[in-house]
Amino acid sequence: MSAQPGGDRVRRFLLEGHPVRGQLVQLESSWAAMREHAHYPEPVRDLLGEAMAAAVLLASTLKFEGSLALQMQGDGAVGLLVAQCTHDFRVRGVARYDEARIAPDFAVLTGRGRIAVTIESVERGAPYQGIVPLAGNSLAECIDGYFATSEQLPTRVRLAADAQRAAGLLVQHLPGAEVDAVWERTCERATGVHGQELLYDSCEALARRVGAGDDVRLFAGSPVAFECRCSRERVLGVLRALGEEEVQGVLREQGKVTVTCDFCHRPYVFDAIDVTQVFGPPAVPVTDRIN
Ligand SMILES: [Zn+2]
Repeated sequence: MSAQPGGDRVRRFLLEGHPVRGQLVQLESSWAAMREHAHYPEPVRDLLGEAMAAAVLLASTLKFEGSLALQMQGDGAVGLLVAQCTHDFRVRGVARYDEARIAPDFAVLTGRGRIAVTIESVERGAPYQGIVPLAGNSLAECIDGYFATSEQLPTRVRLAADAQRAAGLLVQHLPGAEVDAVWERTCERATGVHGQELLYDSCEALARRVGAGDDVRLFAGSPVAFECRCSRERVLGVLRALGEEEVQGVLREQGKVTVTCDFCHRPYVFDAIDVTQVFGPPAVPVTDRIN
């Protein structure tokens, strides 16, 4: 039942007999797949990885059918960052940044701005949105703030990412019970988990460590996979919307038409034959028929 070390999974754990729950997520192949066509500078990459782990943690605390988006917008080097996670943990993410202003510092990267968490669910109809300002020294601190204001649940989040992995840990005090020493202790231990441990220790070891001295139940959890909603069919729709004249123009100029997905940066390439299949053969000038 236990996950492969490094397997892409989100796993819930409980402290038996205490109103404390936790979630652990470690991403590896989904994290690599997300960046297959995008080459982010290190600080942007790590921020995106942390946001991805945070989106999975946020989705894992909800019962819903749909998609959750964490969107960061600010006047720092990273103007826009979006991390999406569906109820069945399919993830994708993208960051837009100003190369010249990048520095390995959260405040410089994000600047002044806000984080919006948007939940679009089949049951709810209208999307729900919670907003917290970009503040503090890390994305994890912002997410703590989100839980404190939006859900009014004491929560501690840890996030980390590097070239290989992205990971997150969340501990949360369940509603309806008084905050006690067990919660304080759990929080302290969660805070003490460092980035490298969060990324590379097993979920078993991390859950045991956070719940030390208490009976910890770790569940098998759910797999997490990268999936962008783009497809060749969708891109064909974009080409049709552009119109034959424009597409044929690009084809004449460049010998092919390349459309790149805004989200995952995957390039979709169409040659003359593909374009002909979309629009039919190029129009032939009509000549007068002679009887
Ligand atoms: Zn895509």
